[in-house]
Amino acid sequence: MPKPYLANPAGCRKVLDRYGFSFRKKFGQNFLIREQVLEDIISTAGIGKDDFVLEIGPGIGTLTQYLAESAGRVCAVEIDRALLPILEDTLSDWDNVTVLNADILKTDIQEIADRENEGRPVKIVANLPYYITTPILMGLFEGGAPFSDLTVMVQKEVAERMVTGPGSKNYGALSLAVSYYTEPEISFLVGPECFMPRPKVDSAVVHMVRRDVPPVSVRDEKLLFDLIRASFNERRKTLQNGIANYAGFSFSKEEALRAIEACGFKPTVRGEALSLSEFGRLADELCLIRGQRNRQD
Ligand code: SAM
Repeated sequence: MPKPYLANPAGCRKVLDRYGFSFRKKFGQNFLIREQVLEDIISTAGIGKDDFVLEIGPGIGTLTQYLAESAGRVCAVEIDRALLPILEDTLSDWDNVTVLNADILKTDIQEIADRENEGRPVKIVANLPYYITTPILMGLFEGGAPFSDLTVMVQKEVAERMVTGPGSKNYGALSLAVSYYTEPEISFLVGPECFMPRPKVDSAVVHMVRRDVPPVSVRDEKLLFDLIRASFNERRKTLQNGIANYAGFSFSKEEALRAIEACGFKPTVRGEALSLSEFGRLADELCLIRGQRNRQD
């Protein structure tokens, strides 16, 4: 049986030196070098031989080796071409891994699930490139990627934003999207010494299980997420102004106020005070107003 061998400073350094690889900051490259962290990610993700795992950003293959050991099949999507010959080498002991050289933000995950997993939902596991954490997560949620659960390493502050509710300074569009689509939990914290090179921030692993049905039901999901974006685009403005100024909407200030008052909120309310179900009610009011206006036109 092959054994993972990259999750320690010497193993990682040896491969980097053999290929003369230099880290690229622009790709958020901080590779894991602590065995315990890798083992904890695998047990948090609850991976078994029946699972198909999509890994975002395999790097030199450190986490990929562990995934290949425990999953049925693995598909790893890596943007940096310079890592391909390294991955070919470090993953050569496993025959259940495919590496795709692609940008995850432009990857059709439904197509991968259809082709490699008979259309069934996949598990997504990643030590994410921190510079695009939010676009990756929002893309997975709003793009309808077929996943059963997500296990991701993110910056600790981002993890806190992902699991928080109204009233906290960390509350925002990401918190709402995470709680609409999933049940999230911060599984454990990870210090900078567990990576090469060391990042300047602390990290956390977040496990998110996809909900069977969202916790609120709305007439128009896209309108709900546009409303959430409109509210947090201009944090210091009132919700009324946020709605009226949002480029993706065509609501006047009067229409925004009418919807806000119909929900029983104060005219000066801000998005950061509203829960997901309150956003849902407001989205439905705006949907009604838009429908009435369209019928009159
Ligand atoms: N999984 C490895 C580990 O844990 O040691 C590497 C994780 S490193 C934090 C992030 C990885 O994501 C890097 O290999 C980087 O090149 C890759 N990456 C960055 N942007 C990407 C993108 N848009 N699509 C796919 N991979 C990306």
